[in-house]
Amino acid sequence: MSLQNTREITKSQVFQRKSLHKELPKNAQGKMLKVSQYFGENVFQLKNNRNFSADTQKEILSVLEGTKALDKKLAKQIADVVLSWALEKGATHFCHWFQPLTGSTAEKHDAFLTLKGDRPIEKLSASQLMQGEPDASSFPNGGSRSTFEARGYTCWDLTSPIFIKENTNGKTLCIPTAFISYHGDALDIKTPLLRSMSSLSEAATTFLNLLGVKEAKSVTASCGIEQEYFLVDKAFYYQREDLVMSGRTLVGSLTPKNQQLSDHYFGTIPERVLSYMQECEIELYKLGIPAKTRHNEVAPGQFEIAPIFSDANTAADNNQLLMATLKSVAQKHDFVCLFHEKPFADINGSGKHLNWSLSDNNGTNLLEPGSTPHENYRFLAMVAIVCEAVKRHAVSLRAAIGSHSNDHRLGGHEAPPSIISVFLGATVKSILDKYLTGDNYSPEEQTMINTGAGQLAQFLQDNTDRNRTSPFAFTGNKFEFRAVGSSANVGFPLTVLNAAVIDVLKETNLFIQEKLNAGSDVKTVLKEITKKWYVSSHDVVFNGDGYSEDWVKEASSRGLPNLRTTVDALIEFNKPGNHQHLFDLGVYRPTELESLYNVNLEKYNTCRDIELRTQKKMIDRTIKPCAYQYKKELAVLIKDLKELGTSYASEEKTLNKVSSILDELTSVCEKLGPFLNTDNESEEKRGANYANVGLDLSEKVITLAGELEDIVPDASWTIPTYFDLLFIR
Ligand code: ADP
Ligand code: MG
Repeated sequence: MSLQNTREITKSQVFQRKSLHKELPKNAQGKMLKVSQYFGENVFQLKNNRNFSADTQKEILSVLEGTKALDKKLAKQIADVVLSWALEKGATHFCHWFQPLTGSTAEKHDAFLTLKGDRPIEKLSASQLMQGEPDASSFPNGGSRSTFEARGYTCWDLTSPIFIKENTNGKTLCIPTAFISYHGDALDIKTPLLRSMSSLSEAATTFLNLLGVKEAKSVTASCGIEQEYFLVDKAFYYQREDLVMSGRTLVGSLTPKNQQLSDHYFGTIPERVLSYMQECEIELYKLGIPAKTRHNEVAPGQFEIAPIFSDANTAADNNQLLMATLKSVAQKHDFVCLFHEKPFADINGSGKHLNWSLSDNNGTNLLEPGSTPHENYRFLAMVAIVCEAVKRHAVSLRAAIGSHSNDHRLGGHEAPPSIISVFLGATVKSILDKYLTGDNYSPEEQTMINTGAGQLAQFLQDNTDRNRTSPFAFTGNKFEFRAVGSSANVGFPLTVLNAAVIDVLKETNLFIQEKLNAGSDVKTVLKEITKKWYVSSHDVVFNGDGYSEDWVKEASSRGLPNLRTTVDALIEFNKPGNHQHLFDLGVYRPTELESLYNVNLEKYNTCRDIELRTQKKMIDRTIKPCAYQYKKELAVLIKDLKELGTSYASEEKTLNKVSSILDELTSVCEKLGPFLNTDNESEEKRGANYANVGLDLSEKVITLAGELEDIVPDASWTIPTYFDLLFIR
């Protein structure tokens, strides 16, 4: 069977796909359950669990509040209840679930089964719950540990819920853990995030207490994550080596109609996709993840899901679980879910918007403007603090969202540029701008939106208008870090964002203390803080079109860094002035950051290497043979036409065109060859080489292969096209 037949067969197979039916959760009497009745059924309740005695519950609360350490006795009591819950649910194994520097999750399973003498029993000991020792030598460590001391330990994170993962033939109890070295250094993404959460709570609580909010005992960074993704049919996916190897297409010609008509965005969700989303949601609800929003995104084949926000640590863990669920359920529905930031050239890429805010233990959101924001001095001071944090630590924020894949999206369609700026919306910006000039702000009357149709419900004009082009936007009562990539583990950007804010908050607290000691009142101090930080940071505030060329020039004249590539960003971040605060705040230790730097740079280079090799292979083994085949057909045709004495000008023109593209493609590919053998250079040099030379060559290859695809007859093109991948489902 020839390859071209395979693609045709696949197409007809995909045409016949049906939506997959999923049984909805029912009770024992067969009555359908409401979501609220099975929500969180696969999550272990540590708080308010009636299987613990009142004393144990109290002790657990103290541990969660950080006023007591977890001892072995308490751990044993918890382990017993966890085990009987897990067994009741039908789990046979447990695992420590953690997030090494790869950015994805890792797990090593152990059976509950153990032998007491020769009697089989199920067991989960206190130490099995609290600590594990997976072999750490094969995880990337960026050179921080030599192999002989490659031990790594996982330790239970009590603040993130224990859950049960269901598979076709069994269930596993998953215990969220941190992953640390023998010396307590973080080997993961979670540990620094947890440190930043505690430190942020401390600084923000002090801030509130100084301002007279004595009842504030703790402050949590809240986070809601919007996750974008693409779905392609599984059968097409496995015929695209580039998608399988690198997550994005490395050849492909865009269809004439793609997203120009905006007819996909918020359109009716295709039946097969909706069935998929519904099954994902059932799984997420069982895991206690409150999936809230689902919709079509802008590009064909692109979708979004967003759960209700929670504390940042849980949100980060849940996002990993959500991604895993989207991926595994997709397989059942004969889809593959793509998280790459730019799987298809020239249409929108996927992001992961981090909605971030701060709220105290009484539920007060520090970023809530209220109905008269110009008189809400604490709110204005908080916004100014965040602006200063972003301005001061723009390099670390840029580095935190950097990856080889996100580089394709930053600055692309509907994606924020690599210049980190803050959008505040018209109202907040004009209030704060008055602090620069010293003028008084007089609020504009909030107007009703005039629809011209009396049948419609009336509503007030929203003054926190949205700017979709900003990497960091104030949206109502939270900031939205929009530059984060869809494939990212949000732990790192969250940590860096938290740290940036802690840094400025700590300085602010000293300032407040000093002013109060000198006899100032709270309102005056708050106004002074707002002025101090807004004067210092207002250059980072930009409400205009972040995609315009003018902004790039304007940002440069304002002195804002524009770190175009991840390699640039990492190298800049590695300069002491750009990360010292992370050490000073105790969020990262020098060895940890060095590891992270090395791991990220290596990952960038390895991924580029894989991409270029895959691309070259596809050109040599798939694209060129399609073109050769067509050339052969044309040559035979021309020969026949010549013999007949008929005109063959058009055929010859096409043949020459195919030949000339092929020649150029061959010469570009030859340049890729030696480029790939640069192992003896430093990672920085390799990175810069990939980012500046390799990608240009690769782009060239994409263009030329696209030109061939546009000439070679569809029936002779052996790999699924953008048309197949984006439009057939
Ligand atoms: P958008 O209009 O930006 O697409 P979505 O409804 O898709 O908004 O997502 C907004 C996300 O922000 C949700 O995850 C939501 O729970 C979260 N969110 C809402 N309020 C807050 C808040 N105060 N802090 C953090 N996240 C929030
Ligand atoms: Mg959204």
